[in-house]
Amino acid sequence: MTLTVGVLGTGIMGAAMARNLLKAGHVVQVWNRSREKAAPLEIDGADVAAMPADAVDGADVVLTMLYDGDAVSEVMRQAAPGLQAGAAWVQSTTVSLESVGELARFAEHQGLVFFDAPVLGTRQPAEAGQLTVLAAGPVDQRSVVEPVFEAVGARTVWTGADGAAGSSTRLKLVANSWVLAATHGVAESLALAKGLGVDPEDFFGLISGGPLDMGYLRAKGDAILADRLSPASFAVVTAEKDARLIVDAGQAHGVRMDVAAAGAERFRRAAEQGHGDEDMAASYYASFGS
Ligand code: NAP
Repeated sequence: MTLTVGVLGTGIMGAAMARNLLKAGHVVQVWNRSREKAAPLEIDGADVAAMPADAVDGADVVLTMLYDGDAVSEVMRQAAPGLQAGAAWVQSTTVSLESVGELARFAEHQGLVFFDAPVLGTRQPAEAGQLTVLAAGPVDQRSVVEPVFEAVGARTVWTGADGAAGSSTRLKLVANSWVLAATHGVAESLALAKGLGVDPEDFFGLISGGPLDMGYLRAKGDAILADRLSPASFAVVTAEKDARLIVDAGQAHGVRMDVAAAGAERFRRAAEQGHGDEDMAASYYASFGS
């Protein structure tokens, strides 16, 4: 089924998702706050809209892939005059649990069918259409958004038996707490190796083939050692935002997230040092200097 999809936000993830929707044969209308990031999608066949309301005009499905919940809320309010009642809204931005509730209420008010649909996977899987989509939404409406998930992802994981919004974001925050902890683990171990004059290859060799030898360690470790942190797969500033969402979600549910809190501070320091747009593996630099 060919759908008209309005994509709001064409950053690292949104642009890649829009391209894969185009490849799958859907009609794609895009909008981005900084127009220069949306303009290249015209060559791929997208209609580049000047305003959010133009991008969602006539859309069967609206896809939001913005920075955080506040940005989604602001942009969807601007899009409101163009929204068509009954359209599906796939909300893929990583947002707080509180925001999911607010956005779901906004959807209800606008007559939209809301899908809480964050994604796992970074720039490369997004470009390859290999994301994992976590999705919660009304069971009887899933067939409408499935073609969108098939275009951007390799796998869809439906969460929450009742389809109520929030279960996908909860799982996403748990998964991201692991990703961020692993990233800081790589960064700090390599920083310590540098400080102690240990050859990183001796460290890799020591754990080679064992359960602690992870593909993720090698990928992020190589990027740090080669100072290959731009363009980012997942930028430091975005990772800091996610770390703070994780700390807040834990706090709201009586769980202390000490590692995530320390990690958020490392990202803040790395950004302050000028690494904010680099990949989150630039947490490495937070180990040096004050
Ligand atoms: P990104 O490249 O920085 O894109 C962020 C987008 O949000 C840009 O289009 C930006 O517009 C827009 N934006 C920010 N604040 C805005 C505002 N107040 N009003 C309107 N637009 C605003 O980030 P990304 O990596 O694609 O991430 C997008 C979302 O996906 C985030 O929630 C992130 O946590 C999540 N995510 C990222 C990854 C990853 O690996 N990168 C993986 C899974 C999920 P401008 O271009 O004008 O700045």
